[in-house]
Amino acid sequence: MSTLSSPPSPVPAEADVKPTRHLNVIPATDEIVSSLSSDGHRRFVYPADVKGRFTWLRRVGFAVLIALWIALPLIPINGHPALFLDVVHRRFYIFGQTFNAQDVWLMFFVLTGIGFGLAFLTSLLGRVWCGYACPQTVFLESLFRPIERLVEGNRDQRIRRDKGPWNLDKTWRKLVKHALFLAAAFAVSHIMLSFFVSMPAMLQMVRRSPSEHPEAFAWATAVTLILYGNFAWFREQLCLIVCPYGRLQSVLFDEDSLIIGYDKKRGEPRGKASEKDKGDCVDCKRCIAVCPTGIDIRNGLQLDCVACAACVDACDEIMDKLKRPRGLVRYDSQRGLSGETRRLWRPRMGIYAVLGAAGITAASIAVTSRSGFEATMLREKGAPYVVEGETVRNSFTLHLVNKEGASENLRIEPEPSEGLSYVVSEPEVTIESLADTRVRIVVVGEKGKYGGDKPFQIQVTRSDGEKKTVKSRFVGPGG
Ligand code: SF4
Ligand code: SF4
Repeated sequence: MSTLSSPPSPVPAEADVKPTRHLNVIPATDEIVSSLSSDGHRRFVYPADVKGRFTWLRRVGFAVLIALWIALPLIPINGHPALFLDVVHRRFYIFGQTFNAQDVWLMFFVLTGIGFGLAFLTSLLGRVWCGYACPQTVFLESLFRPIERLVEGNRDQRIRRDKGPWNLDKTWRKLVKHALFLAAAFAVSHIMLSFFVSMPAMLQMVRRSPSEHPEAFAWATAVTLILYGNFAWFREQLCLIVCPYGRLQSVLFDEDSLIIGYDKKRGEPRGKASEKDKGDCVDCKRCIAVCPTGIDIRNGLQLDCVACAACVDACDEIMDKLKRPRGLVRYDSQRGLSGETRRLWRPRMGIYAVLGAAGITAASIAVTSRSGFEATMLREKGAPYVVEGETVRNSFTLHLVNKEGASENLRIEPEPSEGLSYVVSEPEVTIESLADTRVRIVVVGEKGKYGGDKPFQIQVTRSDGEKKTVKSRFVGPGG
């Protein structure tokens, strides 16, 4: 069971954080502040507001990503939304390309490319994905936390109110905050669902009674509640406990990966700003107060750090006020922080780059050289041939699949083969987008001339000239 509690006492309230000689009123401690107490109970983190260049950069990035995310189901490319994953009908429209269930094998190359690409990026730039582009970070920092700050105030006010008794002020603020959280979760979940049912269909469903679309309603409700629970309560625990990428950091990082770190040589020993013979860290704990996962970056690189750079901005602000150089907490590598020169290129980077590029290249080639239709010939069930008087008949079914986003005309032409004649039930067919059809083909040979299995082939031609040749064998008695 979780307990709602403020961070331990070493973390100062915002009002206490001033770069003056009174900074050290709170005793220094080596305790690692985290979102879990030593007995495993949850400590709710109350990150303080922060301003600075990285906070600004992140906000711009979040705005661009959210705009892009909203645009994806709205902007049409080749007549379909830029991203529409029609799982029910197994049709997938991705940036103008149309895929069906038979194209799932392509995902292997795409995921391989993305996986190694991410490994490359992490090895080079650390957890830049977590801090700047992960949906958990983007929605939490750009939507849910601003709502919380708007309704419940800054860190000090939130802590005070949560510790205090339930009065009218606390009650209405909690009610309004959670109502807004639910509304935000509702909006996010419905935009997410529009990727699967299309935006017009989703808007229609919202206007109609849930009884007309119970499955979609159940999905929308479940996703809304999950998002609400995640962003209202679970928050950083998703990064710390659930996210597998976060757990991989110790494998992907090396001493030259870009991390956010504290310059111990410069900062230690900590002391008051007025004290001589002390390092630059005035132990104001502002870097801890702004941390969304509640850690103290001065304890070194930790798995819980999501590289949001809030502590960099916070410490820079303190250094500016103290008229000391910025960068006591900064982006650097472990090697750089220990005073050595950072190596940008390492053997592991080459391996990740080659494997990532191989995956993406293979996926690109596979997508661009993908045929727009499929043709497969199957012998009909039952006896492989039928003898009727002086003729032998073989019956086949030609299965045709149109994999394009628009309907297509296909022409079916058997290639002449000595002694064989053909009956094609439909020499020309029109197939709707991502639909299929079956054409019956009967191959007839003279019994007296049959001298063993005979290969034959059928040519299928699309209106743009793309051809496919389907091969099979004519069989008969004895031979
Ligand atoms: S590292 Fe910077 S922000 Fe953190 S306690 Fe020291 S001076 Fe304050
Ligand atoms: S330690 Fe700094 S960069 Fe890491 S999560 Fe906390 S505030 Fe963000």
